[in-house]
Amino acid sequence: MKFKSVTTTCPYCACGCGLVLEVMNDRIVCTQPSKTSPSNRGKLCIKGWNVHEFIQHPDRLKKPLVRKNGVQTETSWDEALGYAAAELRRIREKHGPDSIAFLTSARCTNEENYILQKFARTAIGTNNVDHCARL
Ligand code: SF4
Repeated sequence: MKFKSVTTTCPYCACGCGLVLEVMNDRIVCTQPSKTSPSNRGKLCIKGWNVHEFIQHPDRLKKPLVRKNGVQTETSWDEALGYAAAELRRIREKHGPDSIAFLTSARCTNEENYILQKFARTAIGTNNVDHCARL
């Protein structure tokens, strides 16, 4: 039997609580709070305690989906990102930059949120940026 503990960060919200995932035979069997993380000091909310359930859930999306003929279809990251870029370009050229808005997430790091607002303002040319924490 192989067993290991993996220290990581909860992906659910911006608190960034420290977790220890207990892994047995390459499957995560439970989540423990990190006692040394300054964010949570040995505590977790109910979402954090159950974080291991979504990681291995059979319904979890592992590849991007692109709608083709009305059906969401698995595709490669290259195709999905190329499609998104082409559509953003098409919409901006046809309707102007303020026809596009960006909504980012508390699940992202500060750096990822910074990059998104920078992309919105400099690449697309809009200040339409918001964040799920305000909703
Ligand atoms: S354990 Fe709860 S409070 Fe901590 S980061 Fe996860 S969701 Fe947020």
